[in-house]
Amino acid sequence: MNAPYWILSSEGESYEPLTEDLSTDYLIIGGGLVGITTLYLLTKAGLKASLIDATRIGYGTSGRNTGKATAQHGYIYSRIEKNYGFEKAKQYYTINAKAMQFIEDVSKEYGIDSQFKKLPAYLFTQDEDYVDKLKKEFDLYQRMGIDSSFEKEIPVPLRVRCALKMNNQAQFHPKRFLDALAKQAVKQGGKIYEKTRVVDFQPGKECIISIENGKKIAAKKVIIASHYPCYDGKGFYFARLKPERSYIVGVELDSFPEAHMINIEQPAISLRYIPEEKVLMVSGEAHKVGHQDEDHYQKLKDLAKDIFNTDAVKYQWSAQDYISHDYVPYVGVINDDLKNVFVATGFRKWGLTNSIASAMVISNLIMDNGSEYEDLFTHLRVKDFLSFNFLKENADVAVQLLGGKLQMGKPDLPEEKETGVKVNINGKRCGYYRDDEDNIHIVDTTCTHMGCEVKWNSQEKSWDCPCHGSRFNYTGHVLEGPAELHLNSYKEPKNTINPQIS
Ligand SMILES: Cc1cc2nc3c(=O)[nH]c(=O)nc-3n(C[C@H](O)[C@H](O)[C@H](O)COP(=O)(O)OP(=O)(O)OC[C@H]3O[C@@H](n4cnc5c(N)ncnc54)[C@H](O)[C@@H]3O)c2cc1C
Repeated sequence: MNAPYWILSSEGESYEPLTEDLSTDYLIIGGGLVGITTLYLLTKAGLKASLIDATRIGYGTSGRNTGKATAQHGYIYSRIEKNYGFEKAKQYYTINAKAMQFIEDVSKEYGIDSQFKKLPAYLFTQDEDYVDKLKKEFDLYQRMGIDSSFEKEIPVPLRVRCALKMNNQAQFHPKRFLDALAKQAVKQGGKIYEKTRVVDFQPGKECIISIENGKKIAAKKVIIASHYPCYDGKGFYFARLKPERSYIVGVELDSFPEAHMINIEQPAISLRYIPEEKVLMVSGEAHKVGHQDEDHYQKLKDLAKDIFNTDAVKYQWSAQDYISHDYVPYVGVINDDLKNVFVATGFRKWGLTNSIASAMVISNLIMDNGSEYEDLFTHLRVKDFLSFNFLKENADVAVQLLGGKLQMGKPDLPEEKETGVKVNINGKRCGYYRDDEDNIHIVDTTCTHMGCEVKWNSQEKSWDCPCHGSRFNYTGHVLEGPAELHLNSYKEPKNTINPQIS
């Protein structure tokens, strides 16, 4: 049942896996919105570019979000102004507004049925403690010349203290948009290979990328658009990104005002209507990956029942995104010593416009040798890097790394089906899962990214890593995150750990 509306309602083309060695000028790793938009922009300019994806394009977080295209990214502008000044805050707005315009223009140009619709976005609070923050943010909106207003109410039956209304924002169908953009990129000469997972990355004047079937790709320039960078390049992204999982339920609702909305405080409440389907997406319940195993869907269903008196649930799914140390994405060269490798990550659940913005910045860096937004997004910015939260996150990784190793598994194999349990088999801690047909799957529970212990996620029936957010299904196959290698079965040798840092 946990399948996103976006994927269910856009079949898209299938692309063959790469079965031979390949040499290309530009290789894009990852077919989410960052990767596909970059492929589109590079091939539109006549460059020779190929894209590979571990699974299928648009099946990552770009096909699992709430489809809001907006420059209202929660409480962001005051943060940027505080850290980097007014001009940088304005730049962040400008490039995200451009990205929104890109979605509208491209949808029109190619006649994409992307459900693009303009409407206002609201950022509200129900908590008195946040009123001043919203006032401050509104003052900045005005100084930046954003078409907006300060409101006492929002157009749904929720009591709020106040809200910021940003006009002329939008919503769209991200998967249909992505599928159509991919098709256009292929028409322009781009190549797409699905089911082609990177398992090793060797940087150099010409980078050599190994894929799962043993084939190799030689590329002069590489764009890492794998959401969490599948190669770190000594950029220390593994220490800068916090993986956060969030949940969405889609409930049937006859009508909803033309707007979408989100609160500023936690727990998050995000509302976005799909008029074409008469379904309201209620989302929130965010937590660090591998850190909570509760019925988050039920909490959202209860919320939908409370506010809108509906319990007709049509969809539910979850997804994750990565949060940078100062809430601004990292986009640009992966590090200063590797000028031919580019990365875009850390979108903080606002990656639909930010991913298009990233593709624009990277394309400019490649084609024009520079971008006016380079400094805004560079990973070299250090403000807030040693903030309390950031230190706490990395201390948590150490706790998970060591703490996980001290736990022993259960001595007996459990009877229950479809539940992952840590068991101890001949002194070896393993992850045990009995499927509905009584087949038993036992995996080594050491994450293949950096060696932390994975934990069972009962909502998605997956083994999730609490350190950097890698996820594996019960047979041990990588679902997402930085890990590139699968979990071995307990009969095989121990897992190989490959952090892909240097
Ligand atoms: C619950 C939720 C709701 C959201 N809602 C919104 C919203 O309303 N508006 C908004 O602006 N943003 C939203 N976002 C954020 C946004 O969806 C993401 O930031 C954005 O889609 C990320 O795009 P991407 O291209 O970086 O990653 P993805 O779409 O995840 O694509 C990455 C691709 O890389 C591939 N890949 C990974 N590893 C490898 C490898 N080793 N080899 C080859 N390929 C690999 C994957 O298979 C995948 O297809 C939301 C996020 C969440 C979690």
